[in-house]
Amino acid sequence: MSEPSASSSESGQQIPPGVMEALLRPSNVRPVSRSLASFSGGVTDVSMPEADFLLNKWDLLCPRCGSLILRTGVGKLVEKPSVQMEPATRSPTLIALLPSLPEPPALVSWWLVAPSPMEFENIGFSKSLSSGDGAQMKLLICAECDLGPLGWSEVGGSEFWLACSRVGYRA
Ligand SMILES: [Zn+2]
Repeated sequence: MSEPSASSSESGQQIPPGVMEALLRPSNVRPVSRSLASFSGGVTDVSMPEADFLLNKWDLLCPRCGSLILRTGVGKLVEKPSVQMEPATRSPTLIALLPSLPEPPALVSWWLVAPSPMEFENIGFSKSLSSGDGAQMKLLICAECDLGPLGWSEVGGSEFWLACSRVGYRA
């Protein structure tokens, strides 16, 4: 009699690793992501050298819903002139999630994703619109919650640009 009782008491006290975390975590809450501004070293802290390039050191997430956008090591860090792409609504919440980019041609840090959207885990696109120089572009938005613009691409192009300041980092 004593053995089953001891074993049942033991199983009541010892919860397998991970189970408690899973129970305490509602299924709709995703891992917290960090903003670029939260890293003291800026882009240096979120990139890692690989051959002649710097790649994203952490998974890139939607800063609002945490949806996985790009896996570690897929995006290439590139300094490139800014592109005007402001959120449609300039609410304080959106400005905090999507910091303003400087006026072109000031340089901005981007994650370059190429050669196709298949490189992304999840990404959405806006309708085509005309950029300042007349080229047709699409804005990159979160595939799950539509937050954006997170970046841009030329229509029919093979390069997709995510603003380093507008994605979250699973660090
Ligand atoms: Zn989202």
